[in-house]
Amino acid sequence: MRVAIIGGGVYGYSIAWRLLLAGQSVTLFEQYGALNTRSSSHGLLRIYRHATFEGDVYCQLMNQARTLWHELEEFQSTSLINSCGCIYIGKPDSELIRESKRVALSQKMATRSGSKADFPWSQFDLKDDEVWILEEGAGMLYSDECVRSLRMAALEMGLEERIQKVSNLAEIESKFDAVIIAAGRFTNDLLGEESLPLEVTEQTIAWCSVSGPTDFPVFAHETDTDFIYGFPPTSGNPLMKVGRHNTVDPGNSELNKGDQIAERAQTLFPNTVTGLAKQETCYYTNTPDHHFIVDWLPNHAKILVVSCCSGHGFKYAPAIAEHVATAIQSGSIPDALKQFSLGRF
Ligand SMILES: Cc1cc2nc3c(=O)[nH]c(=O)nc-3n(C[C@H](O)[C@H](O)[C@H](O)COP(=O)(O)OP(=O)(O)OC[C@H]3O[C@@H](n4cnc5c(N)ncnc54)[C@H](O)[C@@H]3O)c2cc1C
Repeated sequence: MRVAIIGGGVYGYSIAWRLLLAGQSVTLFEQYGALNTRSSSHGLLRIYRHATFEGDVYCQLMNQARTLWHELEEFQSTSLINSCGCIYIGKPDSELIRESKRVALSQKMATRSGSKADFPWSQFDLKDDEVWILEEGAGMLYSDECVRSLRMAALEMGLEERIQKVSNLAEIESKFDAVIIAAGRFTNDLLGEESLPLEVTEQTIAWCSVSGPTDFPVFAHETDTDFIYGFPPTSGNPLMKVGRHNTVDPGNSELNKGDQIAERAQTLFPNTVTGLAKQETCYYTNTPDHHFIVDWLPNHAKILVVSCCSGHGFKYAPAIAEHVATAIQSGSIPDALKQFSLGRF
């Protein structure tokens, strides 16, 4: 079977890897090259967590993804996961705390929790009415290294990679047995009149300078007004990465500016964050319900669309890729992906 993949982000290369392992012939088209800064998969680090507070539907995918990330680590003799833990902080009735607690309990995850009085890291300044939950098996993915490893694995298995923009979908459709669109924020540019319910938002990442000990876990902090997340410095990277999640009108909002995010991080880490060192832009591709799309494009039996962003898709990539490979070979969508059908819109 000859399969074309449009898009060389974490999804395109993950799907290529799983299809090549299944013995298929794969050509991947990427317009700007792997890890380009105009797309969504760059930025060094991503949160890796099993407390999938976006919904139970992701728990099974996460378990499967963990196994496959480890498989890739072995395959490429590299390290992709840093299990430094992930701490969720908020008021007891915040969605972050309620959902993390519920998923952690239902999945029997190793966690610790408490209030400000017994918070283990002196770098954080919690409010008196805030509580915390630490997910011990969570942490971060070295996401740039993940994409590099996926690409190398696929190339070693015979991937044909073309650094080329696909402008004519019909032409690709006529030349291949199956086509996968994993084009991130450019999906609707490619689909034109057949566009899908996707909204692209620009997200600013603040890289903050820090002083003092930085041996704390990855964190997510929800307040009445916003939700920030971040990563401690890692070896070879002395800065702390901080982002604001799901800000209203992020492209134009003051809240989405690097210095504003750094100031916000300073309120949580008053003696650690010393300022904004640099900022970057990344893009969410959101669906109306913030869940993914993996489905055949209406009226195109050969074309499968894979849009797994809305700000939380990276960690599941190899698991979803495995199911996509099954869909392409069997012609039907596996149960694990049925929740991401286009029919729900
Ligand atoms: C700021 C930010 C923070 C995030 N944090 C997390 C996190 O902590 N944990 C987590 O799990 N997820 C997180 N995510 C989500 C995750 O990064 C995305 O789900 C993932 O990167 C999406 O990858 P993709 O392969 O679908 O898209 P992309 O990485 O955007 O790749 C699509 C590629 O397709 C190419 N392309 C498009 N059109 C064409 C064409 N016509 N011809 C050729 N090539 C084309 C583009 O150039 C691009 O390289 C975050 C995302 C952002 C933006």
